[in-house]
Order: sequence, then structure tokens, then C-alpha cells
Amino acid sequence: MSQFLTCQEYENLAANLKYPTQAFIGGKFVSAASGKTFATINPATGKDLAQVASCGKEDVDKAVSVARKTFDSGVWSKMHPTERKKIFLRLCGLMEKHMVELAVLESIDSGKPIRENLCTDLPETIECLEWHAEFSDKQYGSTSPSGNLKRGLIVREPSGVVACVLPWNFPLQMVGWKLGPALSEGNSVIIKPASVTCLSTLRLAELAAEAGVPEGVLQVLPGPGGLVGEALGRHMDIDVLSFTGSTDVGRRFLQYSAESNLKRVVLELGGKSPFVLLEDFTDFEFAASQACSAAFWNMGENCTANSRIIVPASKKEAFLSAFVTALSQWRMGNPLDPANALGSMVSEQQFKTVMGYIEKGKAEGGRIVTGGKAAPIGSGLFIEPTIFDNVKRDATVVREEIFGPVTAILTATSDEDALALANDTCYGLHGSIFTESLTKAHAFASELKAGTVSVNCFSEGDNTTPFGGYKLSGFGGKDKGRESHDQYTEQKTIFINLDR
Ligand code: NAP
Ligand code: MG
Repeated sequence: MSQFLTCQEYENLAANLKYPTQAFIGGKFVSAASGKTFATINPATGKDLAQVASCGKEDVDKAVSVARKTFDSGVWSKMHPTERKKIFLRLCGLMEKHMVELAVLESIDSGKPIRENLCTDLPETIECLEWHAEFSDKQYGSTSPSGNLKRGLIVREPSGVVACVLPWNFPLQMVGWKLGPALSEGNSVIIKPASVTCLSTLRLAELAAEAGVPEGVLQVLPGPGGLVGEALGRHMDIDVLSFTGSTDVGRRFLQYSAESNLKRVVLELGGKSPFVLLEDFTDFEFAASQACSAAFWNMGENCTANSRIIVPASKKEAFLSAFVTALSQWRMGNPLDPANALGSMVSEQQFKTVMGYIEKGKAEGGRIVTGGKAAPIGSGLFIEPTIFDNVKRDATVVREEIFGPVTAILTATSDEDALALANDTCYGLHGSIFTESLTKAHAFASELKAGTVSVNCFSEGDNTTPFGGYKLSGFGGKDKGRESHDQYTEQKTIFINLDR
């Protein structure tokens, strides 16, 4: 704990934080054209934090026009990649310098524990941006095997104006996943953060300006999804729309694109991911510690949350006992107290949704092993981490994404049954499997219909590995890794006649 300040010190920092609350367009913070604002709250206390500019269509038009002009000017898109890299790395340096401040800001706006922000969200966002910044001047095109008399060059060019519409569960990390490759390729970018968690993105825009990212390269537009998100989705002069959020809203972006300019749409969507213990795996203590992260990390407000824990029927009791013991180490409470691993739900709406699922789980015959209630911590929106047992395979808590601290235990009669259960979902974002057998690990990993499979750990991979879903979990491209750059670039063939 020595690397942390005290809770009181974080509280003092929080009380004195200064951060922008207006939209960021053309290098300046500006009010929404309508003059409207909305309140963002601290969900751990229920108190209003700030009034934020509530943008609409007029602001979207202005931001797109500035982004297009900036792109066409070449000030960023045609800057030498090494220069772009240097500016981008300066932004990473500034984020590092302001890490504690950003972590506190993220905590008070979202309810996430400060220790998570300091140990995971902030370092991973900075490393992600660094990785893509470094990539700026390390990409090569290719030549085609077109014979001696022709030369086919296959090159990539920045797409142009990119819009990113983001969720609230990992506000800064999601910015990192999209902004990293988009900026590194030379695009101009417009970010629409989730309404309940837009403060850290606005502060990041301020740091980007300080780092020397030219004005007009990055804009941030807070405001309602139904206005700002839809206006971006339908805009005739946006080239790429990269979305992370729910499957329902994701579908709309395909429609918006089809009804406007056929902009490229990339969707990272929801999940209902399985955590599978195969018959041969008996290190229950280790599996249980991983299951805690898989199910409850970020209060289960995680697209890869493993909310279906599949164990051999004969091992259920032993595993459950280890699971409950491991979970008892996860303290919940004030997100600014570094002892706490679990904070509050992000919003009252999400709190109600999750409590509704818990009630439904009980009504459909599920037995609560632990949790199942709101936690009375001040006036915050806290929910106890909840494990359901005795659930039917078609119970609502088994089929639908909950996006909260609720997981269900399912039993399998064999490894084949476990695989069938794991794949019995409309989603395909992630899966964890535990086995002592390398052969089984490979066989199971290739049979699981999911974009990421982690073996003997719960993991989403790292900055070098692409991330995205099968089935209703994704569409059109990947975040992270080299592959993420594909969505922000156009591929061009230049075919040269050498025979003249
Ligand atoms: P959401 O309701 O789909 O919202 C995501 C974003 O879309 C927000 O910025 C939202 O704006 C905006 N939006 C809402 N309605 C819109 C509309 N009609 N048109 C255009 N934009 C609209 O999702 P969420 O509740 O924020 O996030 C939770 C979901 O994200 C979960 O399903 C989770 O699995 C998924 N997720 C996936 C990944 C991944 O990488 N696969 C990562 C994180 C989360 P407002 O904030 O103003 O409503
Ligand atoms: Mg908030």
C-alpha cells in the first residue's frame, strides 16, 4: 500500500481538482451552441460534480468541419510520422505527470476505485498510447508479385475524419484504444464520451493541446447519445465511426451509415463470456482468484466479464467454497480509499438495471451464494458482488448481459458439455479456460466462438493483441494491436507500368 496516498489525501485532491467542462473544438473549450449543460455526478456520493456542455447537431457540424479542414491542411495528416510520434509521446509524458490527478478525476466521475485507476486504467492507457505512438514511423507498405514489367505498390493512407463514440466503463482506456491508432495514422478525431463519464476525456484533450497536437486534430463533444452520437453516425463527412458500447446501440450505427454516406463502422459490443474449469483442473484456489477478477473486476461493468462460471458438477462445491473465500478479500467502499477493490455502480440507471437482474435471478429460482443486495455505503450506488447457484441454463441471468457484479455458476457433465454450454450464447467476446493439458487448451480454444480466449488466467491480452468479438459482440474490425490500424486507414493500390 505504500505506493498510495491516504484516502484523506485523495479526498483533498478531489476537492481541489480543476478540470474543463466545455466541449473541445478547434483547440478551444467552448460552450454548446445551444448553451445547454447537463450534470455529471459522483456516483459514490450521489453529489453533483459539474455542469458539462450538452452538445447537439450544430456542434457536431462545427467539429466535423474543423476536423475536415485540419485533415486537408496536412498539418497532422502529412506531418512526418516521426514528428507525429514525438508530439504523441509528449502527450503520454504529460499523462504520466498528471497520473494521480487523472486517476482521482476518473474515480469521482465514475465510481471506480482509485487503486484500479492508478494500477490498471491509467498505466494501461498511457502504455497503449505509447505503443501506437511508436508505431507511427514503423509501418511499411508492400509490393505485389506483378512481374518485372509492372510494379504494384500497396500503401495505406489515413482515412480522414474519425468519430469515436464511447462507453462509460473504462472511460480513458477506451479513448486510448481508439485515439492511439487513429492519431498515429494522421487522422482528425472527434470523441463523444459517455455522458456519465466525460470529464477525464476533456482533461486529456487539454493535455493533448499542451503536448502540441495541432488544433483541430482532436475534438471532444459531450452530450446525449441520441443527439451527438446519432448526428455523428449520420454525418455525410465522417469517414470512420468507431463505437464501443451495447449491441442495441451498435446496430443503430450500421443503420446510420447505410442511410448516410456508407462510412466505415467498427463495433465493439457486449458479451456474456464463459469461465470454464475443465475436469482435470483442481487448483481451485488459483481458479477462484481468477474468477473474482473475471466476474467482479470493475464491479462487473466490463464487456469481457465472465458472468457464466462453468465447472464440472463433481467439483462445484469445492470450487464455490474457494470462490467465496477469495471474494471475501475484495473490499468494497469509498473509491478514493486505496484499500478498496470495488467501488460503486456508475449511475442510478445502471444500479437499477443490475438490481433488477438480481431480482429476476431470484424469481427464476436461482440461489444466492453470496451478495444479492445493495450495500449501504453512504448515499452511493453500491451493489454487493453476487454469485448465483442453481440457475437453469436458460435463466435470464445466464442469457443476458448484466454489466454489473453478478455471476452465475453452471455445472457441466463433461468437458464436451462444458464446451457446448460455453458456446450457447448469442455473444462471442471472450472466454477463459483452465486446464493442465496443453492439448485440451488448444482444442478448446479453437472450438470456442469468441474473439479472445485466455488460458489459465482471465485476460484480455495486451497492447499487442487485437481485441473484438464474434457474433453479436462485434463487427467490422478490431481494437488494439497492429490490426486496430486497419480501421483508421484506407488501402490503396498504385500500379506502375515499367515497360514504356
Ligand atoms: P451504450 O448505452 O450503448 O452507450 C455507448 C455510447 O453510445 C455512449 O456514448 C452513448 O451516449 C451513445 N449512445 C446512446 N444511445 C445512442 C444512440 N441512439 N445513437 C448514438 N449513440 C448513442 O453502452 P454503455 O451503457 O455506455 O456501455 C455498456 C456497453 O458497452 C455494454 O454492452 C458493454 O458490453 C459494452 N462494452 C463493450 C466493450 C468492447 O470492447 N467490446 C468495451 C466496453 C463496453 P450516452 O452516454 O449519452 O448515453
Ligand atoms: Mg459521473
